[in-house]
Amino acid sequence: MYCIECAHENDNNATKCKFCGAELHRELDDGQTRKLIQMVHKRENVARDKTNGGLVRVVLGLIFLIIGVLFIWLSFKQQSVPGVSSTITIRVFSVTCFEFYVALAGIIAGTTLLIWGIIEIALQKKNLNEYAMLVAALRSGTFVQINEETTKK
Ligand SMILES: [Zn+2]
Repeated sequence: MYCIECAHENDNNATKCKFCGAELHRELDDGQTRKLIQMVHKRENVARDKTNGGLVRVVLGLIFLIIGVLFIWLSFKQQSVPGVSSTITIRVFSVTCFEFYVALAGIIAGTTLLIWGIIEIALQKKNLNEYAMLVAALRSGTFVQINEETTKK
């Protein structure tokens, strides 16, 4: 069941909201239903802001990854080695150069931001779907505060 003070979902047998401590109502009147719809809309706005935050992280993560890959390429250093007839120059990958540390930092930061952003977007997408279903149920009057016992209208 849902708390009409904070719109969080609680266990069906709960009497007090575990999120805000408010008393839970088993049956909602029209005023309480309207209040719950408003609360859910506020939470939808928060979820949309968090989704945008997730998108920013994904974009930043990709930028860091591109920088990381670029510096991996810069970590290949030219080195002269004696050949059979003359000295030849080869490109050797160096893990001790400054560029390699930049690459490492870029790839770690980029991967972290990318995963964090994707998880945030997925979580908020799930939340937004739940909120949309809840608002639709509240609007249509099919909202059930306690599944087994009471049905609204
Ligand atoms: Zn609450």
